[in-house]
Amino acid sequence: MQRIAWDQFFLAQSHLISSRSTCTRLMVGATIVRDKRIIAGGYNGSIAGGDHCDEEGCYVVEGHCIRTIHAEMNAILQCAKFGASTDNAEMYVTHFPCIACCKSIIQAGIKAVYYAKDYKNHPYAMELFERADVVIKKIPFDEHVLNNAAQIEQSVIQTVQEVLQQEEVPASTIAHLEDQLRQQFLK
Ligand SMILES: [Zn+2]
Ligand SMILES: [Zn+2]
Repeated sequence: MQRIAWDQFFLAQSHLISSRSTCTRLMVGATIVRDKRIIAGGYNGSIAGGDHCDEEGCYVVEGHCIRTIHAEMNAILQCAKFGASTDNAEMYVTHFPCIACCKSIIQAGIKAVYYAKDYKNHPYAMELFERADVVIKKIPFDEHVLNNAAQIEQSVIQTVQEVLQQEEVPASTIAHLEDQLRQQFLK
């Protein structure tokens, strides 16, 4: 089995987190990584205990939903709350950050931002990232990364079921199956 690249792994994490978003306008997920370890994650949603956009509708002022805290901010605030340093960390985010998040990312000492999709990329955000020497790089997310794992699992389960349905299963088949399972799941 081919192992998933780190970039895709962390982006997959951000895409997974984004599925928790409660704002229906855009689902964003962010993951903060230090030394290849995930230290925090965030999605865009209301403050704890607040009304949710998906239930109450978005609270739109001048074209922006003001109810939600952005994913990037939520991830940084999680570090503040639980005492994890963001200095020299990296961020993987589903969409290009807005100006407010861009400034917070720089001020938090994050040194690189990898994003999967362009989203109203503001030239001023780009300029601020450049001036602060923060790497900002688009890495398209390969959605198959998430699908592949599920597909492989499904095909193995199907094979196991087929084999078990046979009346006499030769020892060599079982050994082969065990081998396959080990390769797929125990790496
Ligand atoms: Zn909203
Ligand atoms: Zn933002």
